[in-house]
Amino acid sequence: MSRTIFERIIDREIPASVVYEDDEFIAIRDIAPKAPVHVLVIPKKVSARVDEIQDEAEMGRLWLTATKVARSLLPDYRLVVNVGAGGGQEVFHTHVHILGGWEGKIPF
Ligand code: AMP
Repeated sequence: MSRTIFERIIDREIPASVVYEDDEFIAIRDIAPKAPVHVLVIPKKVSARVDEIQDEAEMGRLWLTATKVARSLLPDYRLVVNVGAGGGQEVFHTHVHILGGWEGKIPF
């Protein structure tokens, strides 16, 4: 299978605005933000979609990292995971969207 855009970002082949990184995850600003703050939390270990992750600790670390990064950016936020084309997923490398920063009514 060909490498996804997120693997290429992890490997620093293409640039991204990195807001957080550790051995296991990278968090970048979305290139086409759907909210005033829109960050993607991406495991470096490749899986195509979140339901491929079967290890509880690995899944736990993904959510802990997503909430930690979100709290560092925003007081309140939304976490979204699109799973499969029918779920709106476009990049088939697992990632969690952090969305927020709306003032007033949130759009949906
Ligand atoms: P999804 O639809 O859940 O697969 O979300 C993929 C997200 O990746 C979209 O919100 C895109 O705007 C975002 N995206 C695609 N390419 C890049 C990139 N090079 N840098 C940052 N975000 C990207």
